[in-house]
Parts: sequence; structure tokens; C-alpha cells
Amino acid sequence: MKLVIVDRDGTLCVEREGYLQTPDDWAPLPGALDAIARLNHAGYQVVIAANLPGLGRGLFDMAALNAIHARMNKQVAAAGGRIEAVFFCPHTPDEGCNCRKPLPGLFQQIGERYKLDLTQVHAVGDSERDVQAAVAAGCVPHLVLTGKAPPAQTDPLPPPFPVGTRVHADLAAFATTFIAEMQALDAARAETEAKARADKAPPPAAVH
Ligand SMILES: [Zn+2]
Repeated sequence: MKLVIVDRDGTLCVEREGYLQTPDDWAPLPGALDAIARLNHAGYQVVIAANLPGLGRGLFDMAALNAIHARMNKQVAAAGGRIEAVFFCPHTPDEGCNCRKPLPGLFQQIGERYKLDLTQVHAVGDSERDVQAAVAAGCVPHLVLTGKAPPAQTDPLPPPFPVGTRVHADLAAFATTFIAEMQALDAARAETEAKARADKAPPPAAVH
């Protein structure tokens, strides 16, 4: 199974002051829904990993969250894509959990659920803590610049952004680059395998 982990607010949808509390607060970022569909069509399933401390603070409840995600899923489906699952940390920072990004717990849950080697999994987010969590879990980190506090400088990214974090304008740009690179890798791998098979094949029989 091939999987990409995507953050929600600021990466897939517009980030709101005080969190998304009702379905009306949900608005996808430009090109983001199509990006999910393109990842799916390239053979990647997409899951969301999000910190949702508004749940722990009681700003919204599970019914509201389900309604928000129902709207999200409907719009993703209309764009021809699908979000496999939403993994979220419902805790506030004071609860000291292991699943609140930048800690890796949420990503580890995803790895366990799908029995994945996380070093092969690419993760996209708009904040420092997204890429820090990705790196802590062993994933390949990507940053998009659509959040509320994009870094002033991206080449190179300043600390504390992990070294090796790749930067993209938005989720659409990530999908374009990522899909092209993965297809190029697959083609190179297929070529190497074909060559290995040709090298192993017996020489043609001599004709007298
Ligand atoms: Zn948590």
C-alpha cells in the first residue's frame, strides 16, 4: 500500500482563527481537492493527521467534527478523490499526550494501522510542528506555504525546520512534483529490473 499523510488546516483547507467549529468553516485551499484526486489516481491513498485541540477544549464536539469531515469528504469525492481516514489528536497541550504534533504518536498510529514502513511515507504540512512530527516518526517531510505563518525564508529553511524538508508553494504543487518524481523512480526501477532479467537470460543458441 502506498500512502501520503496530509495535515488538515493550512494544508488542505483554510485555517480559521479559533479552529473549524462547524461545516460552514470548512473551505478547501485552491487546487487542494484536485491534488488529493491526482495522488489517488497515481496510486496513493491519502490520510489526514491533524492536531484538534479544540475538541479537548470543548470548542466543538465529535458530532460537529463528523459534520465538518462529511462536508470535506463530499467535496473531495466531487473532485474525484478520496480521503482514506482522518487521524487526529484531540488533546490540549497541557494533557501531555504523545499524539500531538510535533510528537510522532499520530504518525506512528498510522504506521501501525496500515502496517507501513514510515521511512517510505511522505508527509505534508504547513507548520514547523508538522514537519518535526514527520521527521520524528521517520517520514519524508514536505512543507507547504499556505498556512498562517509560512517561513520568511525557504532556501534554505531556517532552523528549527528539520534539514531535508522539501518546500512547495501549496498542496497542488506538492502533488505535481511528488507524482512526477515517483513515476520517474518507478520507471528507473523497471528499467533496472528489465536489464537484470536480460543479463540473466541464457545466450542465444548458436546456429550452425
Ligand atoms: Zn494527543
